[in-house]
Amino acid sequence: YRKTIIAGNWKMNNTLSQMKAFAEQIKPIIPKGKWCNVVLCVPAVNITSAVRLFKDCHIAIGAETCHYEDHGAFTGEITAEMIKEAGAKYVIIGHSERRQYYNETDFTVNKKVHAAINAGLIPIVCVGESLEQRELGVTMELISYQVKCALANVPADKMRHVVIAYEPLWAIGTGKTATAEQAGEVCQAIRAVIRKLYGAHVARSVTIQYGGSMNAKNAAELLAQPDVDGGLIGGASLKPADFVEIINSAN
Ligand code: 13P
Repeated sequence: YRKTIIAGNWKMNNTLSQMKAFAEQIKPIIPKGKWCNVVLCVPAVNITSAVRLFKDCHIAIGAETCHYEDHGAFTGEITAEMIKEAGAKYVIIGHSERRQYYNETDFTVNKKVHAAINAGLIPIVCVGESLEQRELGVTMELISYQVKCALANVPADKMRHVVIAYEPLWAIGTGKTATAEQAGEVCQAIRAVIRKLYGAHVARSVTIQYGGSMNAKNAAELLAQPDVDGGLIGGASLKPADFVEIINSAN
């Protein structure tokens, strides 16, 4: 079947010393024997330290983006292989903030998904509609288009190591969470797209997360949706107690 994955996306937050304080606070309270996978996606400069700091509490580490080429003259960028060698297991691809501020397109998202897979990383592929798109009634078409673009030419046998995150733009950092029904409906539609592309067996195995103002209070209800297999959590992943509460509601 598929894994539940609770992933924090720290975005541009937490210095090395702040991350050390976070680790000290979370270690005594993080549940042991949990059956969900826990991930923290951290700024690239802190990946190596994060891997070391969180090893003994079974938190895997991820990056927040990568380049799609495997080397070259791209000042400031890092490759999927560099992230892998630094000890990370995941990389977020196509987060709406990257699409909005750094010109990521469905085309570059697809190239990055391939780069991540080739390096042995698990891509967490973000898709989501804006408020305008939802109000126009094109959410399902748009999400389906984004998923198809992201997964173009990804072979079926790699899909077990791909995570999709549904993050409606209007819910990110706004405190305005999608209702459990809305989240469940779109995640179900994403699974239907994967089923069409790869068949029922693959569709059942892919973890689909919800993201957007998920917190300790609303996590349980969102995660109770049959097609919501985890969360991608921004703000609430910066607070150890809140993050642990979300992990507990997945268990
Ligand atoms: P918030 O949880 O802060 O709304 O952020 C969601 C997000 O963008 C996670 O990738």
